[in-house]
Formats: sequence, C-alpha cells, structure tokens
Amino acid sequence: MQLIECPWCGPREETEFHYGGQAHVAYPADPDALSDEDWAHYVFFRSNTKGRFAERWSHSAGCRRWFNAVRDTATYQFHSFYRVGEQRPATS
Ligand SMILES: [Zn+2]
Repeated sequence: MQLIECPWCGPREETEFHYGGQAHVAYPADPDALSDEDWAHYVFFRSNTKGRFAERWSHSAGCRRWFNAVRDTATYQFHSFYRVGEQRPATS
C-alpha cells in the first residue's frame, strides 16, 4: 500500500482515492461547433503514455476534492501532487 498526498489533507492511504483520468483535458471552446466525431474525440480519446503522466484524482473517502497528480504509469510511483488550476510540474 502506498500513500497519496491530497493537497488539502496530506498523505493518506491509496484506498481513499479514485482515479479520474487524464488531467488538463480542456473543454471545447465552442462546443456547438463540434461535429459528432470531434465530440467523440473529446469524450473518449486520451493519451496512453508510458512513463510520467498527469492525472486527475479524487480524495473520495476524505475531503472529496479533485486534484492532479503526476504518476509513472510503468511503476505506479507518484512524483507530485497539485491542485486543479495550478501549474503542472515538470515531468521529465
Ligand atoms: Zn483530501
């Protein structure tokens, strides 16, 4: 078991959290202009990065807030945690 650091609550066991998908996926600027295919890409298509990857996480059994984390998808090791709206840390 590893600890995940909620930006508001501090380190907690990973069982308190839920994965929320890729971070930094911007809502379309003009949603009425999107075709069905463009909507499908926005809703269903995500990067499948091997290595450090920015993700959304929810502290669902705690404060219930969303935040972002950089995690290595190959090792499952977390590298940084930051609040939504904050600058993404360097992931290299
Ligand atoms: Zn929390």
